[in-house]
Amino acid sequence: MAVQSNGSSESFVKIPEIKFKKLFINGEFVDSISGKTFETIDPRTGEVIARIAEGDKEDVDLAVKAARDAFDHGPWPRLSGYARGRIMMKFADLIDENVQELAILDTIDAGKLFDSGKTVDIPSAAGTLRYYAGAADKIHGETLKMSRELQAYTLLEPIGVVGHIIPWNFPSLMFFMKVSPALAAGCTMVVKPAEQTPLSALYYAHLAKLAGIPDGVINVITGFGHAAGAAISSHMDIDKVSFTGSTEVGRLVMQAAATSNLKSVSLELGGKSPLIIFNDADVDKAVDLALLGILYNKGEICVASSRVFVQEGIYDKFVNKLADKAKTWVVGDPFDPSVRQGPQVDKKQFDKILSYIEHGKREGATLLTGGKPCGEKGYFIEPTVFVDVMDNMVIAKDEIFGPVMSLMKFKTINEAIERANGTRYGLAAGIVTNDLNVANTVSRSIRAGVIWINCYFAFDRDCPYGGYKMSGFGRDFGLDALHKYLQTKSVVTPIYNSPWL
Ligand code: ADP
Repeated sequence: MAVQSNGSSESFVKIPEIKFKKLFINGEFVDSISGKTFETIDPRTGEVIARIAEGDKEDVDLAVKAARDAFDHGPWPRLSGYARGRIMMKFADLIDENVQELAILDTIDAGKLFDSGKTVDIPSAAGTLRYYAGAADKIHGETLKMSRELQAYTLLEPIGVVGHIIPWNFPSLMFFMKVSPALAAGCTMVVKPAEQTPLSALYYAHLAKLAGIPDGVINVITGFGHAAGAAISSHMDIDKVSFTGSTEVGRLVMQAAATSNLKSVSLELGGKSPLIIFNDADVDKAVDLALLGILYNKGEICVASSRVFVQEGIYDKFVNKLADKAKTWVVGDPFDPSVRQGPQVDKKQFDKILSYIEHGKREGATLLTGGKPCGEKGYFIEPTVFVDVMDNMVIAKDEIFGPVMSLMKFKTINEAIERANGTRYGLAAGIVTNDLNVANTVSRSIRAGVIWINCYFAFDRDCPYGGYKMSGFGRDFGLDALHKYLQTKSVVTPIYNSPWL
């Protein structure tokens, strides 16, 4: 595999000056109360991009106060859904107008491929806003058929002030996956981007203001999880927390909610998703899918197909083709359009992935390809495929969150189902077969929130997405996500003037 020269990005794009580095509270960019800042690092080089305001508990308190006032007294929850939707549409248009700059920010902050950012991530973020803008004036309760002389109906009301805690792997998509349905519902919010990737979230705060989102509706607190994140999940004045991140931190968020005000929580957590490839599959296509499933976004995606099960009839052919194709996968400068894999997000993630690779070797798995860092600077890792992997090895059980595949052979459908389900996670699964009976049987038998048949990463904003088992609960995307930010009020009145009522 080729490693492109690092630091040559300026030949592809001009990297702009970083405009927004402060917290965004009540419609203003402000310093943190402590005056502290933290470095955000460019994973292409390991160098500092900018210093960003470091929000702490006191800053979260101010942001929650602004969001609370905006919810309890401000216009946003009181506007018609149609009016909210129009402002959200304007917000989406502003994203489209700034797509190049936003894609650059996510590339320098997270190491994401610039072309994907420009053509997929940022346009999809705007598309998600528009999807929920269209839903904002279609939020209805029900008329109820009561068993007595009563009439009743339900109102769907916004849940209140929401805390969104966001991970670093899809800074723009995750921001809008969470913010858009909450805006449509009429909620106000405090958003905490991951400390690795604060840049685009602050830019979105600026665009929200330009679009006419009232002050206090969206507040952005940049800072660390143990401080700003923990202050959100334990806050007494936040009504709901929507979290995406690791299973360990998800547990902390739930504990904090339980021991504070019992706020509602939704968690989208880790995964160890299986891709099951049957004997009748087209081997070339299956190899492409398997590589994409683990190498897209350099494996930093919770639905990555990190366990690939291949049926014995095509296993040897599959292994040979996979080894050949993996070697042609270009790793390097994420601004270079010929590159397919940029750097891991930071040094911590880079070290963690490499230590899992060492662990896999020690456990007795065989490296088919990759296994080493690459490039002279930055956090680049070769596409790595292990064979001779046993189900009980750590590399087959833990979420590595990097470009590391465990490739395994199976004989029967039942064996594939049992081994695919042999994980504490249940986020996604892929099935490759042309046999409808096999596809139907396996898709109904896998305990996971999303099943992709003859495709992978087939996300769509209309398709609910979330986990079974320890991959969490609650759904992002689709109208399910809108309902996370609504609560039901029942209104009851007698039909006749009954003496007993
Ligand atoms: P990862 O392991 O993928 O880095 P994390 O779960 O650590 O993911 O981080 C996801 C998000 O959760 C980030 O915004 C991070 O700052 C935040 N976070 C980390 N620790 C906590 C915590 N104790 N409470 C609340 N949020 C946290």
